[in-house]
Amino acid sequence: MAYDSNNIFAKILRGEIPCSKVHEDEYALAFHDINPQAPVHVLVIPKGAYGSMDDFSANASEAEIAGFFRAVGAVARALALTAAGYRILANHGANARQEVPHFHVHIFGQADLGPMLAGKPA
Ligand code: 5GP
Repeated sequence: MAYDSNNIFAKILRGEIPCSKVHEDEYALAFHDINPQAPVHVLVIPKGAYGSMDDFSANASEAEIAGFFRAVGAVARALALTAAGYRILANHGANARQEVPHFHVHIFGQADLGPMLAGKPA
């Protein structure tokens, strides 16, 4: 699927829409989710134009993949989530109800996050 350069995270990356920034480096930008689902809910996005986990894992360079996942870990450490634990999640496509077509990892923390899924799928 072609990348939609007008998606909301592309606009955040271009500075056209503000975000509450947590971390930025060569490969990744991290910011607080606008509608948090946990006391800490941060999104980490790659700087490159990748629409989803599938696109990123298939087409990003080794440096982009390594840099991105290093950033996810660094953000969790910077937010002091590591000792108590945290959850990361990436939605790909319709079954996962991905809303924004720019690859992103959610980081949830600072609370007991409950079971992995809210309920069994129908
Ligand atoms: P998805 O369902 O695609 O995995 O998650 C998209 C996430 O992006 C949602 O948790 C939603 O709250 C968040 N989001 C959507 N629009 C914005 C925005 O303009 N700013 C921020 N910070 N988060 C957003």
